[in-house]
Amino acid sequence: MLRRSRYLAVAGFVVIALSGAAFIAFPGWSQTTHQTVTASLGKPISSSAMEALIDQPGSIAVRTVASSDWKADLSGLINLKDPKAVQAGLVDHEEPIQIYTHLVRHPTQGFFMIDTGVSRQFAEHPESVGVPWLLRNFAKMDKLQVREDALSAITSEGVPLKGVFMTHLHFDHISGMPDVPKDIPFCTGPGEAAEEKFENVVVQGMENRFFDGRPAIQEFQFTTDPDGKLEGVIDVFGDSSLFAILTPGHTAGHVSYLARTPTGPVLLTGDACHTRWGWEHGVEPGSFTFERDSERKSLLQLKALSERHPKMIVRLGHQP
Ligand SMILES: [Zn+2]
Repeated sequence: MLRRSRYLAVAGFVVIALSGAAFIAFPGWSQTTHQTVTASLGKPISSSAMEALIDQPGSIAVRTVASSDWKADLSGLINLKDPKAVQAGLVDHEEPIQIYTHLVRHPTQGFFMIDTGVSRQFAEHPESVGVPWLLRNFAKMDKLQVREDALSAITSEGVPLKGVFMTHLHFDHISGMPDVPKDIPFCTGPGEAAEEKFENVVVQGMENRFFDGRPAIQEFQFTTDPDGKLEGVIDVFGDSSLFAILTPGHTAGHVSYLARTPTGPVLLTGDACHTRWGWEHGVEPGSFTFERDSERKSLLQLKALSERHPKMIVRLGHQP
């Protein structure tokens, strides 16, 4: 009985946390306890060295796939207490969003994904892949409508998938993992797996199950940007074709990506910015936030980067 009441107290607290309160640090509960190692790919580069190159056409192809439609509370997606949001009269409501995977083709390195999209099994039979009851009931999973599932996206390329670069490890970004072969390496930002917060009481078991039997998570090793314009930059393949940009705040080790395509630079913000309104007004995400000050700084750094390179195409975390 005592155990049951304690469970209900925890469950109630998690419901509150999942339904709008800011993320709360919670020692001992990481996103996943899966092993991590230093990434074999990538070398640090200064932001000025990256920016000297990015307006020159490159050889990477990026196809952004809207894997599913979904809905989330605007108060999670945008900081509604920001003066700009107050002035605009934004009020909380269910906002239509999408879940993406970005299919990256490198002429010699092959085919990689950035984030995983959504597997049909995750969306339609979440209990079968270990999605916990609390998440199924309180993360609006009934509003998840698959458009192009992760498996279709992977097979559409017609070549083997070589690896997955993650912006971060939230459940709506690893939701395509059931479709990703078990031997494929995953890369994240530093400290992403070990990030501790209360909500991980709910999701850690699912994340561990998703990573079970897979290689250790490879963490990019950033160094501080000597130019101070960004937190840190990695040249992923060492040929200045794809860059990982450290953008912490939404999660501890959040990473955005910048690809040099034949038609110009493409910035994939990940959840450094969820929404079009948030990007256009420079307002960071709301309650879906690990650390607000660094999240805001990361968003403003990306906006300034895009303004220095007006031809840059910007693709946001959850809206076109
Ligand atoms: Zn997200």
